[in-house]
Amino acid sequence: MPALNLPQALGAPAYDYLIVGAGFAGSVLAERLASQLGRRVLLLDRREHIGGNAYDHLDAAGVRVHRYGPHIFHTNAPRIVEYLSRFTAWRPYEHRVLAQVDGQLLPIPINLTTLNRLYGLAMDPAQAEVFLAARAEPVDPIRSAEDVVVSQVGRELYEKFFRGYTRKQWGLDPAELDRSVTARVPTRTSDDDRYFTDSFQMMPLHGYTRMFERMLDQPGIDLLLGTDFRRVRHALRYRQLVYCGPIDEYFEHCYGRLPYRSLRFEHQTLEQPWYQPVAVVNYPAAEVPWTRITEYKHLTGQRHACTSITREFPCAEGEPYYPVPRPENAELYRRYKALAERTANVTFLGRLGTYKYYNMDQVVGQALALFQRIARQAGVPVSGFDEPG
Ligand code: FAD
Ligand code: UDP
Repeated sequence: MPALNLPQALGAPAYDYLIVGAGFAGSVLAERLASQLGRRVLLLDRREHIGGNAYDHLDAAGVRVHRYGPHIFHTNAPRIVEYLSRFTAWRPYEHRVLAQVDGQLLPIPINLTTLNRLYGLAMDPAQAEVFLAARAEPVDPIRSAEDVVVSQVGRELYEKFFRGYTRKQWGLDPAELDRSVTARVPTRTSDDDRYFTDSFQMMPLHGYTRMFERMLDQPGIDLLLGTDFRRVRHALRYRQLVYCGPIDEYFEHCYGRLPYRSLRFEHQTLEQPWYQPVAVVNYPAAEVPWTRITEYKHLTGQRHACTSITREFPCAEGEPYYPVPRPENAELYRRYKALAERTANVTFLGRLGTYKYYNMDQVVGQALALFQRIARQAGVPVSGFDEPG
């Protein structure tokens, strides 16, 4: 993985592929193209590091932190695990999240414990079903992020756990967001307090960045960091372009801007071994300006006399992190997608390139599926990877 400077990249013979974005999308595709098809790839990122939003590093105190917020790996796809396991060993980790509501730290997703603690009850799962059924408001059809929650748990729990958090996170009321947003968080009447129920839940043992380093350590991949595609798009020589940045930016916002939600991260190291009981505590209350606090040592298993935490403050301006799922944005994206299909020699990939609220495993699946199409066109048979749903 030679890291080039700009004059070296400009002087290199033409690349088979220029890949913009060294996150999961770009790095997985680069690895496959180089290792399986022998292609020469230039992988470019405007940040000074690989790994995209999953990048982790040791902070000044030596605590491993995620620069862009907590990244927890979870998937139901054995093939994705099998693929990534070529580049990392794993640490078993099941994510648990507490929400601060009415002065208590309560499990989220809402479960039996949440209900019993919040209302001072001692229900069993069957009684909790009846309890929620009595509060749930039938909504037909379920269109918005509000509808999803209100139809499952009723308005009071919706207000306590979802409305404030969602308004802070997205700058929109849940009624204005697609149902897929809150459908990510289930409701349970059991005492299962795991955030995810996927069959594989774990963290890369030596961190995400180490996994990416090993993925990109292939003959045929050159790396050019700290370089914005817009600066070099006409100067670099390549046959095919794969673009994992925001699709509207590539087309110079010709149909208008696709909205992305951003975050400001406030990192802090504390001279104490622990700060909170779990990796993530959510703060749904409107009066608290941050949405959540992450304490990384729970995720990484690192032992250290200090602990590092991050508060997340959502904002409209800044790095694009989240495509905003709502019908008018999907419509605008469709126009860019149609334009992309009419544009020769460029393919869009990843969370920003395809404007999809994808988790890491889904982006890996998307990159592997694109690789499979490229390999087929090149007449090289590879085993099947399906596009994420
Ligand atoms: P990115 O990681 O965003 O990479 C795109 C890269 O393209 C960036 O490095 C960017 O600098 C580069 N780029 C863009 N434009 C240009 C340009 N013009 N020139 C050069 N480079 C450019 N997923 C999970 O599965 N589990 C989690 O717990 C989880 N937590 C998350 C928490 C937060 C706060 C966020 C924001 C996301 C989280 N995700 C999580 C989602 C995860 O980050 C994404 O699925 C994944 O990182 C997407 O990979 P990507 O390669 O598509 O995009
Ligand atoms: N959400 C909420 N309260 C919570 C947790 C989640 O309102 O305590 C909503 C919020 O709109 C959030 C969405 O559910 O954006 C999806 O949550 P998830 O944890 O999947 O979001 P992520 O941080 O992974 O993007």
